[in-house]
Amino acid sequence: MDDLLSGALSRLDEAAKHVEVDSEVLEKLKYAKETLSVRLSVRMDDGSRRSFPAWRCRYDDTRGPTKGGIRFHPSSNVEEVTTLAFWMTFKCAVMNLPYGGGKGAVKVDPHSLSKSELERLSRAYVQAFAGMIGPDRDIPAPDVYTNSMIMGWMADEYSSIVRQPSPAVITGKPLPLGGSLGRDDATARGGYYLIKHLEEDLRLSGSARRVVIQGYGNAGFHIARLLHADGYRIVGLSDSRGAIVCEDGLDPQAVQTAKERGGSVTAYTGNGARSVTGDELLGTACEILVPAALEDQIHKGNAGLIKARVVLELANGPVTPDADRILNEAGVIVLPDILANAGGVTVSYFEWVQNRQGYYWGLDEIHERLRVIMETEGRRVWDMGTTRRIPMRTAAYAHALERLSKAIAAHGTQPFFVG
Ligand code: NAD
Repeated sequence: MDDLLSGALSRLDEAAKHVEVDSEVLEKLKYAKETLSVRLSVRMDDGSRRSFPAWRCRYDDTRGPTKGGIRFHPSSNVEEVTTLAFWMTFKCAVMNLPYGGGKGAVKVDPHSLSKSELERLSRAYVQAFAGMIGPDRDIPAPDVYTNSMIMGWMADEYSSIVRQPSPAVITGKPLPLGGSLGRDDATARGGYYLIKHLEEDLRLSGSARRVVIQGYGNAGFHIARLLHADGYRIVGLSDSRGAIVCEDGLDPQAVQTAKERGGSVTAYTGNGARSVTGDELLGTACEILVPAALEDQIHKGNAGLIKARVVLELANGPVTPDADRILNEAGVIVLPDILANAGGVTVSYFEWVQNRQGYYWGLDEIHERLRVIMETEGRRVWDMGTTRRIPMRTAAYAHALERLSKAIAAHGTQPFFVG
């Protein structure tokens, strides 16, 4: 996973070639501000005690309190947490949210725990990190294998510790506990608004609207639903157990129902759908490929198979730097994660604002605010990419770096102190 962090940092170096940035700024952004590693000791249902490694990283808080999800995953590690916190720093800056970047994780297979064990683990996480998180300091959210109920337990635990209701400490909460409308599909919806806004630039029209989606969880299902409702044809889908393709188009809800019954998208056999391998899925003819599973899924071994014109990265870090080069050379436009999946953190930001003001917005208002931010920042990145003839990922990093650089330099850099 060291590779993951060095890959992320290589993107910072690349972006720095395209904006004026002081070397002190780059030096600061190369290291996390603080990372805490602990072991959470949890009582199991059978009376035994088990301990789980857990981390929280606040990468950079120059632009505001740090923000980022908590992941429960058996292969989580500190390098991954640090890299994800780095990405959050840039994601919040791309979207101009008043946040820095953070992330947390527990190394655990949550499916091996009972619901009571999961609740105790979630509360133990907050007990361990209560001094690090807070509405003005660091605001967690859901990530892979964590959900709104876990966020509710965590907010409740934090409120008990600080002895006052404190919903703004965490986002992605259930609605009755101060969650926001529109959070469920926010990540996919942000990506959808981006595609819609750039439809002409991306030459997506008429029959040239075929979509392949890798990963059929929250982000994958909702992007399928939104694009399908807009007339796009979903010609391939996958999850961790397999993949299906169907040239005539898949109905996202029908696939979801089959998946709920049969445990995988491969349980869907309607409309001539057939099972294929993961590589065959990537090689399926389409205009848009949406990676919506985990990181590093598109690498130098399979990037050459891709026939899509556009890659919409709803997953974090799905394309390795090697694969990025292959896709760029092939003329594939990659709409990068820090922009394409930023709808999630944007609606999380709306949740935090609503919690703090104690006044809640309707769904239309949330969609409209999200659409405006996606279009504004998406256009800026697109214009920077096309005028400077650089990949959209480099443009997004450069755009974020400009904002981060201004904030860091506003405290003064060497020329100010010795000039
Ligand atoms: P999820 O757990 O709901 O879904 C993940 C899906 O990916 C599952 O269907 C799983 O079966 C599938 N998957 C796992 N490995 C796979 C593989 N090798 N090939 C194909 N499919 C595979 O998670 P999610 O919330 O939808 O998140 C997906 C990605 O989007 C993650 O990278 C996450 O960090 C990112 N993301 C999510 C949000 C959000 O709000 N949910 C926000 C920003 C980024």
